[in-house]
Amino acid sequence: MLGLMQDRPLLISTMMEHAAHYHPDGEVITKAVEGGIHRTTYGEIIQRSGKLANALSRLNIKQGDCVSTLAWNTYRHMELYLAVPCMGSILNTVNPRLFPEQITYILNHSEAKFLFLDLSFVSSIEKLADSFPHVEHFIIMTDRAHMPETSLPNVLCYEDLIAPENDQYDWPELDENTAAGLCYTSGTTGDPKGALYSHRSTVLHSYSTCTKDSLGISNADTVMPIVPMFHVNAWGIPYAALMTGSKLVLPGADMTGENFFNLIKDEGCTIALGVPTIWLALLQHVATLEEQDLSGLPIESFIIGGSAAAPSLIEKIEETFGANVLHAWGMTESSPLGSVNRLMAKHAHLSEAEKLVLKTKQGRPPFGVEMKIVDDDGHELARDGVAFGRLLIRGPWVAKAYFKQPELKILDENGYFDTGDVSTLDADGYMTIVDRSKDVIKSGGEWISSIDLENVALGHDQVAEAAVIGIAHPKWQERPLLLILPIAGETPTKESILDYLEGKIAKWWTPDDVVFISEMPHTATGKIQKRDLREMFKDFKFKE
Ligand code: AMP
Repeated sequence: MLGLMQDRPLLISTMMEHAAHYHPDGEVITKAVEGGIHRTTYGEIIQRSGKLANALSRLNIKQGDCVSTLAWNTYRHMELYLAVPCMGSILNTVNPRLFPEQITYILNHSEAKFLFLDLSFVSSIEKLADSFPHVEHFIIMTDRAHMPETSLPNVLCYEDLIAPENDQYDWPELDENTAAGLCYTSGTTGDPKGALYSHRSTVLHSYSTCTKDSLGISNADTVMPIVPMFHVNAWGIPYAALMTGSKLVLPGADMTGENFFNLIKDEGCTIALGVPTIWLALLQHVATLEEQDLSGLPIESFIIGGSAAAPSLIEKIEETFGANVLHAWGMTESSPLGSVNRLMAKHAHLSEAEKLVLKTKQGRPPFGVEMKIVDDDGHELARDGVAFGRLLIRGPWVAKAYFKQPELKILDENGYFDTGDVSTLDADGYMTIVDRSKDVIKSGGEWISSIDLENVALGHDQVAEAAVIGIAHPKWQERPLLLILPIAGETPTKESILDYLEGKIAKWWTPDDVVFISEMPHTATGKIQKRDLREMFKDFKFKE
């Protein structure tokens, strides 16, 4: 027998209608790309989204059509986040830090009809525009006064586009499984692959994000996603904020520690989210301030994900701001939240040092994400915090296939997706990433976690960034090479680094060599680009 409850579809438009009724005055603050601070409200954003949807309809954008963006975290990007999916079209957020060939591939693969772009990207897109045969219009996200001279064809100005339109739009009642957003993986191997989010997956992900055991976003919060809106929907924050009416602070194009700090301080942020390198930039700025004790600021949580948060980083942030660091894990294919590290009630009595050990783990999956680890034959491994294997996940906001690539079977026979990460799970369900499966160092039949080694090395006070790669070894198959980017002005020695590691890692994990580098390569999403490091050191040989 079926239940007798209403079958209302889970749609982004219903979140928008809820926001229009219950928190139209909720603030949305942007460090504008044109300069200065822009202030608006959800109510105004929703009205302008109505105008935008009318403009797009006038220009013949239909349900199922793709609209792409190359844009920072701003209120205009937020309007696209609402108008495009709520019309039944697909919002494809493209990462501007990708290589030109990857951007071209994505715009051709998604067959985007429109490309909305921020001022910062006009000159780079001018060079590529001829290679986007599907794009009918390029819309520069600014007003008339800031429109640049450009060679882009069919160019429109965002504010001119929406100005004449009616702010009421009759949002269609779509099937909740209708595609809403399209985000491509950064494609470390092969071409980028598209994760195609649905309205249903987006709404469920937002609900989950707001729960207290997850990111705990509520109306009382001021949330700043520094993680870009061009990468996995800024971890879903724009939609979660819309749902709750929390004040939303968007840092725009200014990716400096100074901007992050000023916004945290001036706007009273309570939650800020980003990858580890963002927090390094913030801490570097803080080091230049006269006042070092910032515990009086209202910031409560820093959410760190995208790559491993080293204990030294967690400790430093907590110490500086008197705030709580939540370590989270996820990926493009999981919308992205797969786990969040909150301590459990039973951990309240632990010492600060014991809590830090626990907080370094990537956290527990929220309800909705099922997780297990398996060996190479697919057999499930023990949840004992020791055994490690391939991390598999399943749930309503995890991808079941890639966009327009039905030939790629990405689920196992039980519907689990292989994340490509190698992890442990402990008895409480805390997951720890040991490594990406391709980064783990295979030494004499055993595995060495590059992440663990990097985390320890980062605790050395002269180290800014650390990366460990495996180098072929005649006897052990592979041995670890530690690459260090020193803090500016510091000159650590190999001996001081190895002395520092001693006693903190198993002896046989000790890197066979330490090399200092002047620049650390990063991927388009801020992770260390190990592929480039492996290429740079492909002829490296350890001394006998
Ligand atoms: P992306 O799809 O670009 O967001 O990358 C997802 C990948 O980033 C994951 O599969 C992990 O390898 C890595 N990742 C994300 N969060 C973390 C974390 N907290 N610690 C370690 N690696 C992470």
